[in-house]
Amino acid sequence: MNFELKNIIRKNILELKPYSSARNEYSGSNVVLLDANENPYNEPYNRYPDPGQQNLKSKVSELYHIPVSNIFLGNGSDEAIDLLIRAFCEPSVDRIISIEPSYGMYKVCADIQNVAVDGALLNIDFSLNLENILSQIQKETKIIFLCSPNNPSGNLLEEVKIIKLLEEFKGIVVVDEAYIDFANSDGLLKLLPGFPNMVILRTFSKAWGLAGIRLGMAFASQEIINILNKIKYPYNLNILTQNYALGALSSAKEMKIWVDRLISERERIRKELTKLPVVERVFHSDANFLLIKTTDPAAIYKILVGKGIIVRDRSKVPLCEACLRITIGSKEENDLLLDSLKSISL
Ligand SMILES: *Cc1c(COP(=O)(O)O)cnc(C)c1O
Repeated sequence: MNFELKNIIRKNILELKPYSSARNEYSGSNVVLLDANENPYNEPYNRYPDPGQQNLKSKVSELYHIPVSNIFLGNGSDEAIDLLIRAFCEPSVDRIISIEPSYGMYKVCADIQNVAVDGALLNIDFSLNLENILSQIQKETKIIFLCSPNNPSGNLLEEVKIIKLLEEFKGIVVVDEAYIDFANSDGLLKLLPGFPNMVILRTFSKAWGLAGIRLGMAFASQEIINILNKIKYPYNLNILTQNYALGALSSAKEMKIWVDRLISERERIRKELTKLPVVERVFHSDANFLLIKTTDPAAIYKILVGKGIIVRDRSKVPLCEACLRITIGSKEENDLLLDSLKSISL
């Protein structure tokens, strides 16, 4: 495979000397801090946060059994997506591949950087079509974005095919596992040591119920993590987020209870939806949402809005014709949705 990071990283990023913050240069405690032009009043928020997020990273390291040196923490996993594209893709030269349909941020971040996106259509059952991906690879292709379980289709992608891609492609393969906690799978973290070109994204926005504090993770080789750390904003995670997350991550038990509840609701809703005349098909889901094919997505969407229920219209997305994506809510919310759908006759 001969993957070499220095062959695919942008030259200016390889040579970049990062900003060295005052807190980078000295990190002891019990000292008089007159180095960063901070205000001495209004403790503790007067101080800049730890740019290396050491306490939080130790916690994440324990939780996922991944060494601290293989962890990047960002302002949502969206930050990692953006930084990966900026680190590896030369504007108006390099390209990325994204499976289609998938999460919209890969393309938005590429568009901002003026990086071309080649879509690789999934099979009609939303499984990975390796030929479609391999045939899109050009010498300028730096990153392939996969999402498993995939948004908006909800299915896990097959591990053997992802491994094949990791072996064949000499650039970076990103596997976005935002929804992995809802799947009957541990995901691909176990493969990290064997693949220096793999990046796995995880987030605290879904299973952990922490979308509001903006905290996401990238797991990868130390070499890749060092690059991301070099180009991030020095203080990308604020004190409030770091402190709150340290507390919240101690309640993994509660998270698992929420996840179990959401999975059992997902299966209940799936069965109920299948019985409705306006629903033609409910796709298999390994995530906290269901993709459904309906008789009239625009009309159903509008009727639901009229009842104060907002779902996601995905009907213009490739392979998702006539589809709506519905997030699994609380039991009460899900019942409201079902009642509303039952009352629709089109
Ligand atoms: C929701 C979601 C995320 C989460 O992004 P954050 O920036 O961490 O909130 C990432 N990837 C996919 C595919 C998602 O659907």
